[in-house]
Amino acid sequence: MKVKDGITGFIVGDALGVPVEFSSRYELEEDPVVDMREYGTYNQPRGTWSDDSSMTLATMRSIINKKGIDYEDIMTEFCNWAFEHKFSQYKETFDIGNTTIKGLRRFKDGAKALESGGTSTHDNGNGSLMRILPLAYISNIDYETIENVSGLTHGHERSKIACVLYVEIAKSMLKNDLTIDEHISNACELIKEHYSGNEELNEFNRIFEDDFSDGIRSGGYVIDTIETVVYCLKTTDSYKDAVLKAVNLGGDTDTNAAICGGLAGIYYGFDEIPIDWIESIPHLDKVHSLCEEYEAFCDECQ
Ligand SMILES: [Mg+2]
Repeated sequence: MKVKDGITGFIVGDALGVPVEFSSRYELEEDPVVDMREYGTYNQPRGTWSDDSSMTLATMRSIINKKGIDYEDIMTEFCNWAFEHKFSQYKETFDIGNTTIKGLRRFKDGAKALESGGTSTHDNGNGSLMRILPLAYISNIDYETIENVSGLTHGHERSKIACVLYVEIAKSMLKNDLTIDEHISNACELIKEHYSGNEELNEFNRIFEDDFSDGIRSGGYVIDTIETVVYCLKTTDSYKDAVLKAVNLGGDTDTNAAICGGLAGIYYGFDEIPIDWIESIPHLDKVHSLCEEYEAFCDECQ
């Protein structure tokens, strides 16, 4: 099941990165992550996912319930997560980005969903990129809708384009039997054509030109994250190696590994995700039920 491939890959990547979030590359070179860990940064048990997975699941729940994209309802489900701990494993919300929480508070205080997101250049963390994967499964999704879903919390054009690029890579992987390099370059061509003349495209040049010779920054800035994800996918040849590489670059380890793991899960398939990592994640059976519901909805959209 394609939804299960990507979403499981995403959540496993998230859980791998949670115990070492904010660790430096140097620290992880000294003591690299090679298996699912426990405790660490947030003192959470083994297999705990974070905001990335919770917001991804919230998005899927809303789309199933509303039989499509309902911006107000997605934001309501995000608030249910942030303030009521829905979509978390342990009734606890321990990881939430600044731009995200500001957007959710604006919505809670009465702003319309599409007017809640931050729009300054400082609002370009990876907080919308980390929850956009479900849209890739909707075959007729258009760019404006992807941009709007990003804009619920992250309304700057840079974040929106990053989300569209990520969804296009995922869609290519879902549709075509190509190499990783081909999937990425096809998606890049679509983005360059659609946003032709838009100065924000310059921010993506290293990805377009496949030139990471001046290093990879693996922090929480949306461009750093999409670069990290593309780099890790291009330079590995298995699910396991891709997500471990994303984690061991340090910085925003959970989000980078989650976003990388979503694509690696689709590309390599569920069976290539280490089974002991999958089994270490509590409540994954409920996630897989949600994946089945979501796939049924997406099949109806065809
Ligand atoms: Mg997180």
